[in-house]
Amino acid sequence: MLEGRSLALYIHIPFCRKGCHYCDFYFTPRQSLMEPYVEALLKEIELYIPLLSIVPIKTVFFGGGTPSWLPEALWERLWNRLSSLPTFHPVEVTLEANPEDITLDRLRFWKDLGITRLSIGIQSLSPRLLNTLGRWHTPQQAEQAIQWTAQMDFPSWSVDLMFAIPGQSIEDVKRDIDFISSYAVPHISFYGLTLEERTVLYKKKLRAKFIPVEDEVYEEAYLFIYDVLLENGYTWYEISNWARPNHESIHNWSYWLREPYIGLGPSAHSYIPEQRWWNEKNLKAYIEALERADLPPRGGEQLSPTQQAYELWLTRFRTRLGIDKAWVEKEEKIFAQFLRWQAFGWVEEREGSFRLSARGALLADSFVRQIISYSPVCLPSRLVHSLGEV
Ligand code: SF4
Repeated sequence: MLEGRSLALYIHIPFCRKGCHYCDFYFTPRQSLMEPYVEALLKEIELYIPLLSIVPIKTVFFGGGTPSWLPEALWERLWNRLSSLPTFHPVEVTLEANPEDITLDRLRFWKDLGITRLSIGIQSLSPRLLNTLGRWHTPQQAEQAIQWTAQMDFPSWSVDLMFAIPGQSIEDVKRDIDFISSYAVPHISFYGLTLEERTVLYKKKLRAKFIPVEDEVYEEAYLFIYDVLLENGYTWYEISNWARPNHESIHNWSYWLREPYIGLGPSAHSYIPEQRWWNEKNLKAYIEALERADLPPRGGEQLSPTQQAYELWLTRFRTRLGIDKAWVEKEEKIFAQFLRWQAFGWVEEREGSFRLSARGALLADSFVRQIISYSPVCLPSRLVHSLGEV
């Protein structure tokens, strides 16, 4: 099943100093668990050796949590094991970093280790908005982190920014973009603030202490970002991602094109066609299982043709690749729907595909739901066949 394929490897580092107000990810602030955690991770790697020692590892992504908080000695242990795998020749190794952890020495350390791509969680350069988001770092730390990273000559790097934060004006957004662009940051992820349950902002909203922005404000900001990034030399390639030439995230493309990936660590997901499984979130249960040399507790599913089709649509339609016009034309009702969206300016026809326009990107999820609802029974196998050839 994996003959001739390669793997994307995700490694989760579930430690944060404190929870940001918009985030519902599982993490712990207990630094004392970092060492036992890395030991457990090394054991999980051993359990995957039958796979990891034969399938080439194309990309690695250290995500979190706050991977940049992990001490250097633990990084070395983890890296030494990974890099000793005969299949370990990744073309891209990303590390998510928070500004408060970034120093010139640490940047040098990560680069010497083999990190090729740093992804920095900036979110905003406004003290007021960072405060709303409950971020740990200051704007000065964020600016300094960008300046130092720009000096270090990583093959690629990225910053995460946010829009649709209550109280954020278009001028605030523009100031962030101007600063980032002045350092020619190769890649930008720009996420609209959404309210997840179990977050501080969600609870504040229930008490009427936090009011999310109106849809019109969200749209205005997204369209502004889309245009200004284009003017600044970035190309849109996925709903929330823009890149300068040759700086798109190779690891993320693996997810969007539904290539095999393995996730290690609590809550990490894995996918080998057509099965998906995920480790339990609880860090203690994860460590205890691996201390017994057991696989960590997990859930899993066999993806049905309908799920496969839905996911293909959801991921691929959200990217610059869009959906093949030749396939859309085969389904009369769906083709008619695409022509309507085209007339509204929500999709554009380019190079034989229907792709989302900037306005269409704001409606992508509802488009996919609509398409899938047309033909829940006959659609999947034909769709899977068509998109699977890409
Ligand atoms: S946003 Fe990042 S740093 Fe903040 S709590 Fe979530 S995972 Fe941790």
